[in-house]
Amino acid sequence: MNFQQMLVQCGFSEAELNAGNLVINSPIDGSEIARIAETPLEDVRAAIAAAKQAFRQWRLVPAPRRGELVRLWGEELRAAKADIGRVISIEVGKIVEEGLGEVQEAIDICDLAVGQSRQLFGKTIVSERPGHRIMEQYHPLGPVAIITAFNFPSAVFAWNAANALICGDPIILKSSEKSPLSGLATIKALFRAIERFGDDAPKGLAQVVFGTEPQGRALVESPDIALVSATGSTRMGRAVGPAVAARFGRRILELGGNNGMVVTPHADLDMALRAILFGAVGTAGQRCTTLRRIIVHSSVKDELLKKVIGAYESLKIGNPLESGTLVGPLIDEDSYRMFADALERARAEGGKLLTGGERVHADSFPDAFYVSPAIIEMPGQKECVRQECFAPLLYVLTYDGDIDEAIEIHNDVPQGLSSCIFSDNMREVEAFISMSGSDCGMVNVNIGPSGAEIGGAFGGEKETGGDRETGSDAWKNYMRRTTNTVNYSSELPLAQGINFG
Ligand code: NAD
Repeated sequence: MNFQQMLVQCGFSEAELNAGNLVINSPIDGSEIARIAETPLEDVRAAIAAAKQAFRQWRLVPAPRRGELVRLWGEELRAAKADIGRVISIEVGKIVEEGLGEVQEAIDICDLAVGQSRQLFGKTIVSERPGHRIMEQYHPLGPVAIITAFNFPSAVFAWNAANALICGDPIILKSSEKSPLSGLATIKALFRAIERFGDDAPKGLAQVVFGTEPQGRALVESPDIALVSATGSTRMGRAVGPAVAARFGRRILELGGNNGMVVTPHADLDMALRAILFGAVGTAGQRCTTLRRIIVHSSVKDELLKKVIGAYESLKIGNPLESGTLVGPLIDEDSYRMFADALERARAEGGKLLTGGERVHADSFPDAFYVSPAIIEMPGQKECVRQECFAPLLYVLTYDGDIDEAIEIHNDVPQGLSSCIFSDNMREVEAFISMSGSDCGMVNVNIGPSGAEIGGAFGGEKETGGDRETGSDAWKNYMRRTTNTVNYSSELPLAQGINFG
């Protein structure tokens, strides 16, 4: 059975898979698996107009009832978990476990959002004036555009859509041009939920457009899109951020990371080893939270590296659909070029390759790009280390002094997504998570930088964008806040004691 036949088994029609000119290849063997129809720009504009219209109705539906739609979506995702997981594996090259894990994340955010739909609360604040009360309300915001990166096509869409829908906002998805089928499979589960939900869901509540940068820009530049949630490279964020700001729109930017692990003399090295493996080679190094830098104390460096290199050399690299495989392919040839170039630059800057760094399986898969995950020891945080290479390339940096030196090195990169420390020493751990510690959005202790749960707020600082999505109070990004001062007295005193005539 070829991949297209497998996709049909996963719920796509042949017509859907052969609808246009946007060619989608599987990174597993490089073969063409679909031709998607790009959405013409006038249809993107029509979708925005439909979302604007849908907002007028959806914002009036009580939030717990909106939550019911998301509950049904969660049910549909549970029923389709195996199929969507497989689509992700075929289209993105994730191993089966990780494809399923991504869909589970989508299910988890639905569960969270259902409960949240009864908890969209503001504060009550005391007034300085007698007979007055101040309160905050959160109201629906408007249409939300969700622009996703290739590597989390299902979960990141669901993170945003589940929150937006309970908050009263219609959504428009624009998936990465490299993985539109996974997004489509996920939104089709939402369409089925909408059908079961009934008339409370207006036409235009959930829509999908296909395409590349122009379709993304049409959403970003439209004043009728209240919130743009864009996930991808810092390069994309540099274009999207100012474009949304120019029209005073709201944005959530989730951009690149350069995630580090500090390993101190007090670390449990066996635990660190397991976290390094999942963190650095999981999803073939193509997670925004992938571990890219180890900052290890010189006293434990040799022992740690011996363990890590040993484990790297026994990794099974290959077809992600085969059981036992831990490292699948890179998404495409560009990605491989980026990996090879980064290795070359690292060598030129004094790096010593400790293991990996080769293209593998080129004979059996000439049109696909599998690599052996690389570890490079660097003589310091050179320019190459400061840039995100979206592939399994792990830099090792050494420190000799105390935890402050490690933190200094750790923070000296432009990105600020995720970070972690391995140490059983309370002083080191507290220093790392303190105000003078890691400057990332996510700061973990004795656990790797990737694989976050949806209950916490997800996102990072500096060039990662500064925004947050998923759990905690991230729902507030999808609503507008009003401050209401209510006077229940029969006087009209002014604030600050002002006497006006
Ligand atoms: P990318 O920036 O190439 O594309 C991301 C999306 O942005 C795509 O849908 C693309 O079509 C769209 N896009 C590109 N330029 C645009 C523009 N000017 N206006 C509107 N839309 C535009 O990223 P990618 O290669 O798909 O993904 C990898 C990157 O994403 C890595 O840097 C990774 O760290 C990052 N990422 C970040 C997170 C996070 O939560 N911080 C999560 C996943 C991936």
